[in-house]
Amino acid sequence: MHYDVIIIGGGAGGLSCALTLVSARGRGWEWAENRKYIVLDTGRSDMNRALFKNVPGVPQNTTGKEMLQILRRQIESFGGAEFSEERAVKIEGEKGNFRVITEKGTEYTGKHVVIATGFHRFDIEVEGVKVVDNPYSPKPGRVMIHHDGNFKIREGLWVVGLLAGAVSMFTAAAGTGVQVAVNILSEWAGKRVVIHDVPPEE
Ligand SMILES: Cc1cc2nc3c(=O)[nH]c(=O)nc-3n(C[C@H](O)[C@H](O)[C@H](O)COP(=O)(O)OP(=O)(O)OC[C@H]3O[C@@H](n4cnc5c(N)ncnc54)[C@H](O)[C@@H]3O)c2cc1C
Repeated sequence: MHYDVIIIGGGAGGLSCALTLVSARGRGWEWAENRKYIVLDTGRSDMNRALFKNVPGVPQNTTGKEMLQILRRQIESFGGAEFSEERAVKIEGEKGNFRVITEKGTEYTGKHVVIATGFHRFDIEVEGVKVVDNPYSPKPGRVMIHHDGNFKIREGLWVVGLLAGAVSMFTAAAGTGVQVAVNILSEWAGKRVVIHDVPPEE
């Protein structure tokens, strides 16, 4: 099973990354069509425990569980992304040919890998990843992965969400996922891109 991007972690950062990636489809951009994405997730996002009153633009008292469902439906509306409830345990390889192995023993190959597993722990076996104490966490014992300042760990390998050092708020975590998605799309386009929609003219 070969994918353009494998996203590990389906919370605020991972799903926001997936949403921006799939939203490039259907616009007549040849470089964006027929791309395949997968989100591997163990279903333990911090959002499951949240009641959102302060997420910009989101109706107050939306639960995190509802937001997870909304995000999933948004992604599915564009097509191109699969979801699998599995724990990733190992990442091997290099840009263009990463292999992600799960607890079930399934192997997924991908051109890019985005790690979005939250800041509680990091126990995926992978070379070249420096795990440090997270200085932006309100609680001790949280972790962060060192990156280049633009969420790149090394070529093709990215980190987003709280594990990338975003402050622990939905929009901050989501924003890092969007930023990485735009970076990947821009690489494929060969120029900086944005995906902006406008209302139909009246
Ligand atoms: C109680 C509570 C209330 C909150 N309230 C608010 C609020 O009111 N407003 C606000 O803005 N923010 C709030 N937040 C913060 C917000 O939920 C987090 O900032 C956000 O969820 C972090 O996103 P993330 O993608 O980094 O991690 P998460 O959303 O936690 O997602 C990480 C995902 O990775 C998966 N995962 C982990 N390891 C693996 C693996 N090896 N393989 C596959 N999948 C894996 C997990 O199952 C999880 O689904 C709240 C958080 C909590 C805990």
